[in-house]
Amino acid sequence: MARPKNVKHIFVTGGVVSSLGKGILSASLGLLLKSRGLRVAIQKYDPYINVDPGTMSPYQHGEVYVTDDGAETDLDLGHYERFLDEPTSQASNLTMGRVYKTVIDRERQGDYLGGTVQVVPHVIDAIKEKMNEQGKGGTLDVLITEIGGTIGDIESLPFLEAMRQMKLELGPKNLLNIHLTLVPYIKAACELKTKPTQHSVKMLLETGIQPDILVCRSEKPLSREIKNKVGHFCNLHESDVIGLNDCDTIYDVPLMLLNEQLDIRVLKKLSIKKYSAPELSYWRDFCNKVKHPKDGEVTIAICGKYTEYPDAYKSILEALVHTGAVNNVKVNIKLVRSEDAEENGGKSGKFLKDVDGLLVAPGFGDRGIEGKISFIRHARENNIPFLGICLGMQCASIEFARNVCGLAEANSTEFNKRCRQPVIDLMENQKKVKEKGGTMRLGSYPCILKEKTKVHQAYDKFLINERHRHRYEFNNDYRELFENNGMLFSGTSPNSELVEIIELKDHRWFVGVQFHPELKSRVRSPHPLFKGFVAAAKAYAHGERQLSLESVTLPLEEPEEG
Ligand code: GLN
Repeated sequence: MARPKNVKHIFVTGGVVSSLGKGILSASLGLLLKSRGLRVAIQKYDPYINVDPGTMSPYQHGEVYVTDDGAETDLDLGHYERFLDEPTSQASNLTMGRVYKTVIDRERQGDYLGGTVQVVPHVIDAIKEKMNEQGKGGTLDVLITEIGGTIGDIESLPFLEAMRQMKLELGPKNLLNIHLTLVPYIKAACELKTKPTQHSVKMLLETGIQPDILVCRSEKPLSREIKNKVGHFCNLHESDVIGLNDCDTIYDVPLMLLNEQLDIRVLKKLSIKKYSAPELSYWRDFCNKVKHPKDGEVTIAICGKYTEYPDAYKSILEALVHTGAVNNVKVNIKLVRSEDAEENGGKSGKFLKDVDGLLVAPGFGDRGIEGKISFIRHARENNIPFLGICLGMQCASIEFARNVCGLAEANSTEFNKRCRQPVIDLMENQKKVKEKGGTMRLGSYPCILKEKTKVHQAYDKFLINERHRHRYEFNNDYRELFENNGMLFSGTSPNSELVEIIELKDHRWFVGVQFHPELKSRVRSPHPLFKGFVAAAKAYAHGERQLSLESVTLPLEEPEEG
């Protein structure tokens, strides 16, 4: 296939309000172009001054997505990987903080000697340098750049100015802007309203950018008349106004955009002449399974401390969608606050009585830890499928130490510095680390699995690579004691020094992992561990839960009031 000579750029901006789904739009467009035989990559530019989101609270930013090369990045990169089935990297996420850091470092080195360092041209040039970098080397046909924030934000102006200049330099056939806006439906008037979109485009025009395509999010389908009206006010032909109405699952978005011919409009505007028919049959099958699973439902409890803000668990939620589809079940999610069990005197059974599996989420700090431990105890003692991720695995180790190995004071030194039985302790190479940004054990590391274990059965191989983000680890001083009490260290680092996976021999499915399997689950390759966990929950739900309910060891429920 004849390839475009230079990489073609697509910039995705957002207007009216945030959270319209620029990430899903970018990922969906990427998937459509890839399905037509083009080589596509997606990157995200964030306007904030943090060098990366690694130091931000999940309440501020949602999940921190970790790449193979150890970058702590925006959660939209997770969508890019899940949709496109291509790895992202540090180069795929640029923040304004990183741009300023580059410029200031250069200034200190004397690169601009004699000059006044300014936003225009120095900051803009640094952004353009980065914009061009990803497209170099002839390995890409199309590079999609999602610009974080909403048009009108002061802080994203330098990104817009860099895009404006690049369009001038590269020409309109090599760079286009897709602007995502909201067309709200006003119930009282029974009407879709286009004014916010008009204003958003006006604001974009003030920065010198005429959008090439508008994608309009709305509750109801956009009629031809509305498209025509939007186009008229925004200098666009109605065929360049694409409707995107709310759908059942984010995985429907590419199919909806295909229907609206977004990909065709893009190919035409970028003068890309060689492409194939889209190959998306596997995607349709997947969506069908997500929406109409044949084998009923399971309920998974996710226990964590950020449950009011599900974006903190984005990749976990998506991995459960992927592996629900593989198991042909709908996965219902019950988010349980880890503090709830603490506040209710450790009666975690009350919260878990109608669930088929417990997942204890990653996290930092001591808030809610005792609640997590009490939930894990309930799952262990009542043979409920359990998956502990990172902090979840560490809590499972503490629970086992206290309640099975008889170490009453067992804890992690993260929660109690002077703990006398530190079954989880700071990693050796973390002990001298003072700086917080980018200093955890980050990125992909190999792990060797033991034969005849649940994890070996799930992965069906001995060597795996998984992504990490932590400072603490299992303390090897306690390995023998744990093993003597029935704990299996079913995955370790290749030199056997770091415990990466724990599992219980005499349990239906009880696995704790020090890494983050959720970050590698994709539509095309649902994660084996989640697949195994959901399969265990399904088996438990289909028959065995009722039996187990009769033999629980913890009180299940407070007497009903009244
Ligand atoms: N706080 C724990 C650590 O740093 C776990 C981190 C996590 O769950 N990602 O080791």
